[in-house]
Amino acid sequence: MSSDQKEVASFFQSVERNFDKAAKYTEFTKGLLEEIKSCNTVLQFKFPVRIGGDIEVIEGFRVQHSHHETPAKGGLRYSENVNQDEVMALAALMTFKCAVVDVPFGGAKGGVKIDARKYPAESLEKITRRYTAELCKKNAIGPGVDVPAPDYGTDARIMSWIIDTYRSYFPKDINALACVTGKGLTQGGIKGRKEATGLGVFFGIREACKMEEDMKKIGLTTGIKDKKVIIQGLGNVGYHAAKYLWEAGAKIVGILEYEGAIYNPEGFNLEEVVRTRQETGSLLNVTDAIIKNENSSKGLEWDCDILIPAALESVIHKGNADQIKAKIIGEAANGPLTPEADEILDKKGVMIIPDMYLNAGGVTVSYFEWLQNLNHIQFGRLEKRFNQNKYREILKAAETLSGKKAEANVRENMHGADEIDIVRSGLEETMIQAYREVRNVYVSTPGVENLRTAAFIVAINRIGHTYGELGIFP
Ligand code: GLU
Repeated sequence: MSSDQKEVASFFQSVERNFDKAAKYTEFTKGLLEEIKSCNTVLQFKFPVRIGGDIEVIEGFRVQHSHHETPAKGGLRYSENVNQDEVMALAALMTFKCAVVDVPFGGAKGGVKIDARKYPAESLEKITRRYTAELCKKNAIGPGVDVPAPDYGTDARIMSWIIDTYRSYFPKDINALACVTGKGLTQGGIKGRKEATGLGVFFGIREACKMEEDMKKIGLTTGIKDKKVIIQGLGNVGYHAAKYLWEAGAKIVGILEYEGAIYNPEGFNLEEVVRTRQETGSLLNVTDAIIKNENSSKGLEWDCDILIPAALESVIHKGNADQIKAKIIGEAANGPLTPEADEILDKKGVMIIPDMYLNAGGVTVSYFEWLQNLNHIQFGRLEKRFNQNKYREILKAAETLSGKKAEANVRENMHGADEIDIVRSGLEETMIQAYREVRNVYVSTPGVENLRTAAFIVAINRIGHTYGELGIFP
């Protein structure tokens, strides 16, 4: 086994280790805990695709970690580093993630072992269609079976090739649109899905920063305003998390991407940084950076209040954990801390907001998208105008009774909720409720050392009780 494989194998093992730490605080039998922990289905396959005049054999995976709820749900990633252990770990995290935010899906994850940036669109389309065909043949995709979504290296365009291929296999499935989420808006997607994970990260951090007692413990005041934030990764998740924090008054003092890292204690103008990077191809061309480093990971060690790893797994490890200055780490990526780093940072008193809670915004809005597809009607369509008319009547009555006119902004807000309003409020409610539930377990269960273990306890309890209610074992 290469050292690379060892590192990745430890990713799945680390999920198992975290599970075991939490399992001892639950009341389920050893056998049921084993069932909750293990990966139910692991598919590994190779398929040929004609690229550039020759055949290329591509390796694909789909893991359904749990079937305690169906469909199984989770992203599809395109990356050269994809391998079975990684996909198993990510699928397991999906199970616990869905359970923490009370989204009724089993966990799954898929992977195709390619560097998507090296292929033209035409080849990516062929690979995606061929991968989907494999899933169709194996009955491993469908609105009630297993529903992929975007992840690292994939996007809405790839999701639309998946639906189209699925439909050609199952032309009579009237719910075909729900076979995948994270679709483009013209393909049955939902408003607000693109920014959902980043917005969820924002809601989660905002909630954590509201708790006076917890902030005091780590030497911070409450609120987001003026908090110094370092963000690793300006992809969809990282960019949106940074954007919402910045708009709420945080200072984005550090930005890390694969070409390097930049720092300014006064904070950057996020949109200008993004523009400069787009125009010049590198963060290192941002002129108001006080510190620049071509070694991007050095930026993780710079001074800040909140560090948000929003790229890949295992970026904070035994080798750099001790150098981390942040007081809060918001895990926007899946598995950004190795177990060794977790222990070191725990001992240092760093507050870690775990991935399986913090980045659950994506799958939460995927759930809304799936529901909307199954309902065959847009959220808000039936009641929006009815509510709007009622609100206006109430306002009019209030104005008549008081003899005063309401302010213009009150009048403007008297509209009924439509798709985006419903998605945003559903996401906000989900993230707030889940944080409170996790924190409550953390503060009220003697011995529970951190929010990660608390989140696992919440997840295991929810899954265990689902099994209990089903009474399903032969
Ligand atoms: N890939 C995202 C995740 O890891 C979203 C999964 C989904 O929406 O199914 O949470």
